[in-house]
Amino acid sequence: MKAEIIAVGTELLLGQIVNTNATFLAEEFANVGIDMYYQSVVGDNEARLEELLSLAESRSDLVILCGGLGPTKDDLTKQVVAKHVGKSLVQDPKGYQKLVDFFAKRNQEMTENNLLQALIIEGAVPLENETGLAVGMLYVDEETQTNYLLFPGPPNELKPMVYHHALPLIAKQFLQKDHLISRVLRFYGIGESRLVTELADLIENQTNPTVAPYAKPNEVTLRLTVKTDSKEWGNTQLDQLEQKILDQVGDYFYGYGDQNSLAKVVVEQLKHTQQTIAVAESLTSGLVQATFGEIPGVSEIFKGGVVVYDAKMKQDLLDIPKELLEKEGTVSEICAREMARNIRIRSNSDYGLSLTGVAGPDKLEGKEVGTVYIGLSTPSRTLVQEFYFPRDRQSIRQNAVMAAFDLVRK
Ligand code: ATP
Ligand code: MG
Repeated sequence: MKAEIIAVGTELLLGQIVNTNATFLAEEFANVGIDMYYQSVVGDNEARLEELLSLAESRSDLVILCGGLGPTKDDLTKQVVAKHVGKSLVQDPKGYQKLVDFFAKRNQEMTENNLLQALIIEGAVPLENETGLAVGMLYVDEETQTNYLLFPGPPNELKPMVYHHALPLIAKQFLQKDHLISRVLRFYGIGESRLVTELADLIENQTNPTVAPYAKPNEVTLRLTVKTDSKEWGNTQLDQLEQKILDQVGDYFYGYGDQNSLAKVVVEQLKHTQQTIAVAESLTSGLVQATFGEIPGVSEIFKGGVVVYDAKMKQDLLDIPKELLEKEGTVSEICAREMARNIRIRSNSDYGLSLTGVAGPDKLEGKEVGTVYIGLSTPSRTLVQEFYFPRDRQSIRQNAVMAAFDLVRK
């Protein structure tokens, strides 16, 4: 099966947004054994999209489109595809109901153009949008034997639609397998190139199941995917593959799932042990606390904290003696230790976490840019770890946040 991707959107052509959808789609479809032959980008323009569809139809069996399923005037993807295959647009009842509920819940009136989001090409299989309103679809053109997949543009809508609805359907219809099962393993503390080198044998020689690495900022994930007729056997195969992977790089493994994060793992762990935490941040100015704040239910374990950027604030809010700060410096092991210990005691928490360091652009107190101290205090002891992230300011701060969560997790 030859496939191609068409990303629709004038912002893409103008370089205002990066075409991450194409990268994502290419990887995910290649991963299940669909051969990718072409990729293109076209603006929100009917004539040029139509031109591209004619070309795609002549050379590909599967045409994957993304973008332009929304309610506004420039969104015209499904209208143009419908016209191209000679079909009209009809309402998807489930998508329509979702729109009605959405507006009723917000006490807003639904405008005519919103209805567009529930329209699909006559005869298409609708693909549910779990995070938005525009329904996706698979349309099979019997006449030309061309298959069209239409996805919304926003990545947070497109990804669940691909994983949960489109890929399973493709596996069933075109790959003659009833199930497509994936599992995502997450790693911290190992770079992508090292992970890939360590697992080279497994990654290169696996055809079913497959192993696909992805580098995210400061972490790496591996997606294991198996095409199978039996769910049970598929899961057993994934278990075996996972075991082989963990035998080699298990030290860096921290959790499962697309939506997981180190911070979430920490929150779950603390909930499990019914312990609480408070944070004192200098270098990261509240980033650790903001990350905690994003996680639903975090109030069970997160008491709060302080941002003590300035030395005087460290003295006033955390009782760190002036003499000590002057002698040892604010970027020091002892400062991190005192910050962690004092925030734990002040907040009456089980854990106190602290971060101090040099984010640049200049050295501070004789310490190199990228020097970071992270403290973790418990009632029985306080430990401090020193890190060195020789990067730019944002990366240093983000690395420090991840390292802090990793320290708590361990
Ligand atoms: P909406 O309902 O939001 O209008 P849509 O399906 O009509 O969605 P577009 O209008 O084309 O999609 O794009 C909406 C947003 O999705 C863009 O502003 C951009 O942020 C993101 N987006 C679109 N295409 C891509 C792409 N190829 N790669 C990454 N992001 C994209
Ligand atoms: Mg749009």
